[in-house]
Formats: sequence, structure tokens, C-alpha cells
Amino acid sequence: MKVNQVELVISAVRPEQYPDGLLPEFALAGRSNVGKSSLINKLINRKAMARTSSKPGKTQTLNFYKIEETLFFVDVPGYGYAKVSKTEREKWGKMIETYFTSRKQLRAAILITDVRHPPTKDDVTMYEFLKHHGLPCIVVATKADKIPKGKWDKHLKITRETLDFDPSDELILFSSETGLGKDKMWAAINRAM
Ligand code: GDP
Repeated sequence: MKVNQVELVISAVRPEQYPDGLLPEFALAGRSNVGKSSLINKLINRKAMARTSSKPGKTQTLNFYKIEETLFFVDVPGYGYAKVSKTEREKWGKMIETYFTSRKQLRAAILITDVRHPPTKDDVTMYEFLKHHGLPCIVVATKADKIPKGKWDKHLKITRETLDFDPSDELILFSSETGLGKDKMWAAINRAM
């Protein structure tokens, strides 16, 4: 999709704050600093629409970005940041559990991992949670430009194995630096619409 129009409609915590209407939604999740904001900005051709996190773990709202009057990207606050208090972590858990288990407009979760490393324990927990609730997932292994091409396949294999990857899901190699995987991501999103 060639994106011209993007609007942050609302930063929501509770379901009554979610936007009205029936546009399909895609929720983007990943650990803090994984490269989620950069990926969103690359997808929508913006320099800094989704703000890149100067303070990891800070944003504790679901940010609904309306794209071209066609769909929403829901930016889920990053997880796995050590300095977040237990109370904050619990609030985060409740908020995302409510969203992922009740939102009818949600078509797929986009789970972002760092292709350089095996998915973390938190990544695995997140993926298990999404699969437990029967949600289709698009797993995006980002920062591909940071490892040599010759290692991509090996790293993707490790990603699949560590997540106990469901073959009906999609796994896409990505780089916000080079734009690798951008067209594949839009194609996967379109298939899931
Ligand atoms: P977020 O916390 O998940 O939103 O992560 P950010 O998008 O803020 O990215 C964290 C850091 O990784 C920043 O310094 C980005 O410039 C860098 N980064 C993100 N994606 C990529 C990528 O694909 N390639 C490279 N080389 N750096 C990236």
C-alpha cells in the first residue's frame, strides 16, 4: 500500500476508548527497543509518526493509527523492559489481555523479533499467548541489515524453532534501514484483511 494518510486517532487504555467503526486492526507487539517504531514508520513512510522510544517501557497505552481510512495499526507498548515496576507490568498485562481477547476488529497480531538473536523468553510467552487465543500472527524478524545475508536462513530457523512456530503463520525478514520485507509485510496484511 502506498500510504499518504495517517492519523493517530486515540491512545487508549480501556475498551470504551477504542475507536468506533469496523475497520480491520493489526496489533504490533515486541519487546522494548526491538525496532517496532522504526518498522511502523517504515511501513507508513514517515520519519517519526510512531515515536521511537527514548524511554523504553514508557508508553503504556494502545495507540490506534488509522491508515488511509482502510485499517488501523495498533501500537502495543513494548514489553521486557527491566526497570518497569510490577504494578506497571500487571497493568500492561491486563490492558493487552483485554484487547487481544475481546477485539472483534483484530485481524492479526504482528510480533516483532530481532533476527540477530533467538526470540527472548518474553517473545515466546507473547507468541504462546497469541496462539492460545487462536490469533493469526505475522512474525517479523527485524534488523536484518545487522547480520550478513549468508546468516539469514540460519537465524530464521532459530526464530521458528524457539517460538515453536505455527506453519500457518507468516514469518517475514525485515529491515527498517533498507526497507527489506516491506512489500511482503503489506502483502501479508492484505491477505489477513
Ligand atoms: P522500539 O522501542 O521497539 O520502538 O524500537 P525503535 O524503533 O526505537 O528502535 C530501537 C533502535 O534500533 C533505534 O536506535 C533504531 O534506530 C534501531 N533500529 C530499529 N530498526 C532497525 C533496523 O532495521 N536496522 C538497524 N540497523 N537499526 C534499527
